[in-house]
Amino acid sequence: MKLVARTLSGLASAIEIDGPVFQSIVPLRSDSPDLPWIAPGLVDLQVNGFAGIDFNRALESDDAWQHATHQLYAYGCTGFLIALITNREEASRDLLTGLSQRIARRPRNCLGFHLEGPWLNPGPGTRGAHRPEWMQPPSLRLLDDWRSLVGDLLKLVTLAPEIETAAALDVIRAGIEHRIAFFLGHSEAIGDTLQRAVDAGAVGWTHLGNAIPATVPKFDNVILHVLAQSGLRASLIPDGLHLPPHAFRALAQSLARATPSRLLLTTDAMAGAAAPPGTYTLGEVVVRVGADGAARLPDSGRLAGSTLTPFAGVLRAQKMAALGLEATWNAFSRHPASLLGLDHDILAGNSADFCLLSPEKEPRLLATWHRGQCVYAAP
Ligand SMILES: [Zn+2]
Repeated sequence: MKLVARTLSGLASAIEIDGPVFQSIVPLRSDSPDLPWIAPGLVDLQVNGFAGIDFNRALESDDAWQHATHQLYAYGCTGFLIALITNREEASRDLLTGLSQRIARRPRNCLGFHLEGPWLNPGPGTRGAHRPEWMQPPSLRLLDDWRSLVGDLLKLVTLAPEIETAAALDVIRAGIEHRIAFFLGHSEAIGDTLQRAVDAGAVGWTHLGNAIPATVPKFDNVILHVLAQSGLRASLIPDGLHLPPHAFRALAQSLARATPSRLLLTTDAMAGAAAPPGTYTLGEVVVRVGADGAARLPDSGRLAGSTLTPFAGVLRAQKMAALGLEATWNAFSRHPASLLGLDHDILAGNSADFCLLSPEKEPRLLATWHRGQCVYAAP
């Protein structure tokens, strides 16, 4: 299979695919403004549900799994982590067991799990849509339990190290031995606690700017402390609701300017993404999606995930951050992939996971390819 396209760095190239991998990428001498862009497939670290399907509840059928994963392809996503939020311990075990069987039977674009909870800060400013009564301090027992259920599919854990710092540090040190990445989030960790978690091996912060109190001290707040940790990545949700455009721009530019790989983009999508407005669930929680696309808890009005799709997220992030398409796209593809240990560049020998985009100012998704197969073509 051969195609001609322009890489995001602007190079017109002849691309050859052999089976599931890129065989060669050769720059062309001649050029044409009509060439599509070729870009690495999008990698979303936090998908709670999609296209009407809630991953935080037992799936009714394999059709539901097929539908959600295929719809993620239709929005450019060749790799994602299922995000499971805080739940009763037994319910989480059942979800992990059921979903890992689906992932094993149908190895498509799901790369594993991101456990966001139950090791979070239950305070009113940090709990978000998570139920505080189901939160608990970090424990090696639970980490071992999850590993026994899903093995290496456990890729990412978000925790709040201030709840029980010694236990959190033990869990981080033990988990990274199994190549689990640790992010901090739903947390107020700053200063020494933050530093100790980073020293133990924490590598990121989940949806920076969200799940923190509405009013914070002017200097000693999570946002400034995270930005000042130059080795710490942070994910942002570019839906224009979780962060207003000026805050998104300030955070994205601050993260990406010195070290581009610090900026990660994620949808934090829930079942109402790529689906009409209405009433959905996020695990045990009922969520209303309004005509504005905001997913909110009916009683408190708190945001509970987003209805953003990966492809729309990149374009929106590009506009809000003014960072250019390549930098923005990398923050939603190469950088999260590298965090998971995947070499996701468009290079000979790498898995042929990519998107083709129309050569317009506001590109459209033309096709998604995964492991050398076209898995979505725009109608
Ligand atoms: Zn969250």
